[in-house]
Amino acid sequence: MRPRDIFINALHRRPGPRPATGAATSIVTVDLMKKAGAFFPQAHQDAEQMAALAAAGYTELGFDNVMPLFSVWHESAALGCKVDWGEVNRMPDCREPLYRMGDPIRVPSDLLSRPGCKVALDALSLLRERYGNEIAVVGKVFGPWTLGYHVFGVQEFLINTLLDPDAVKRAMATLKEVTVQFANAQIEAGADALCLADHATRDLCSPGAYRDFLTEAHTELNERIRCPLILHICGDTSDRIHYIRETGLPCFHFDSKVPAPTARELAGERLSLMGGTSNLRVIRAGRPDAVVEDVKEKVRAGVDIIGPECAVPLDAPYANMKLLAGEVKTYTVTKPGQ
Ligand SMILES: [Zn+2]
Repeated sequence: MRPRDIFINALHRRPGPRPATGAATSIVTVDLMKKAGAFFPQAHQDAEQMAALAAAGYTELGFDNVMPLFSVWHESAALGCKVDWGEVNRMPDCREPLYRMGDPIRVPSDLLSRPGCKVALDALSLLRERYGNEIAVVGKVFGPWTLGYHVFGVQEFLINTLLDPDAVKRAMATLKEVTVQFANAQIEAGADALCLADHATRDLCSPGAYRDFLTEAHTELNERIRCPLILHICGDTSDRIHYIRETGLPCFHFDSKVPAPTARELAGERLSLMGGTSNLRVIRAGRPDAVVEDVKEKVRAGVDIIGPECAVPLDAPYANMKLLAGEVKTYTVTKPGQ
């Protein structure tokens, strides 16, 4: 079975010859950039460089997928956020909010042809053309909660979830359309699946806020976007995995703050699980035996797609991801979760 089919099957918790291995968030490290000959910040702004760097996830690391949107800012840049695209050893950032809560949000009619979106769409097409027969091409969009952080600033957005929840809901309804538009364009460009990242992390979003502001939005996104979605939320999500189950989303990309057996228990038998390997303890600082041990724990717990929990720190050694992917391929399973 091709890695592409192994990945897609695992995403739906369908049986496969082995667990899948991959990443829905950035795999880029400084040493991987050197290996690939493609570097930040150009790899955020040039489709060829972006595709070359993403391809290393397959050609160098051996993952079953590639994912070229390394930063969190693409659609926000296209919305008008003034993004600082960072440096070789620093991720992009933006500190200037675009709006105050209550301001009307203007979604540009040429959103998808603005560089923030276009570069990523072109990179997805290149990856599909070059590797689409062998591996899964995964794109990435941000949900309306994270886009709210980006256009309003985290503080302005969060304080208004308490002061003016209706204004927040109206803003999220507009931002949700940006998610759908960019998602559908990525599918058209060649994405097999998409990471839907929405930073409803425990310290910034209570389980009640997830239920009130996000369950419905994520359910709707799952219905309207015509490819499988991998929901990514960092941090300890054990108090909201039961809400995530209700959205109908096929796959949840989880953080090591939720122990893998707990994540499996909370996710039940239908929701597939991806990630869960600690970036700091295993990917960045782990000795080879710690990587091998971590893979064993994830396989035993029934993690369907094994890989890093979130964007890999830029100063991590890529060798640990390569070792992880190789180790996953030594396992055989007849049914995910066994
Ligand atoms: Zn994350």
